[in-house]
Amino acid sequence: MERIDSVNITKEKIRREVLKKRLLLSPEEIREASKKIIEKLENLKEFQKAQIVMLYYPIKGEVDIRGLFKKVMKEKILVLPKMVGEEILPIEVKDLEVIRIGKFGIVPEPVGGRIIKPQKIDLIVVPGLAFDKRKYRIGFGKGYYDRFLKKTKGIKVGVAYDFQIFEKLPSEAHDQPVDLVITPSRLF
Ligand code: ADP
Ligand code: MG
Repeated sequence: MERIDSVNITKEKIRREVLKKRLLLSPEEIREASKKIIEKLENLKEFQKAQIVMLYYPIKGEVDIRGLFKKVMKEKILVLPKMVGEEILPIEVKDLEVIRIGKFGIVPEPVGGRIIKPQKIDLIVVPGLAFDKRKYRIGFGKGYYDRFLKKTKGIKVGVAYDFQIFEKLPSEAHDQPVDLVITPSRLF
């Protein structure tokens, strides 16, 4: 119990620090970094081969991968997350018009659309507040992606700015690592 508590206090401290920094990024900084990350992502053989790709709609300064939406929609099947209760539902998006402001009035998410089985998704781009060298991740603190990633078989690619990369993050048994992490300067 005590150890778990100290893990959660440390996680919370990291969330606050990183979020503060990320919210200070200028639109140009976000655009530049996101462009480099998208380029690396598109160069991945796993991305090129993937038929069903799950992206996310960026909020709170997250890496802006919206530039990939149209391209993925045209060449593959685009899936976006919808938070329903405690779970992420992967929804097929065929038309960007269906994306509306959803949960908490902040996260744009698809309205209607087909639910894709998590195990059918070939590649999942995972947002996060922090990643480490072992590819462990810290999110907003609700465990949505931990619960969702457990059900998937596809390759999980975390994307982040360089200041979001840590040597070793505190982790718990339920935390799901990703397979690859891409930053503007690195891929590991
Ligand atoms: P995040 O990954 O968003 O940073 P945490 O890993 O700290 O958040 O998890 C937040 C909460 O979600 C924790 O209270 C944890 O118990 C819960 N949680 C995470 N994964 C699961 C799971 N697979 N089953 C049940 N609860 C989970
Ligand atoms: Mg977690």
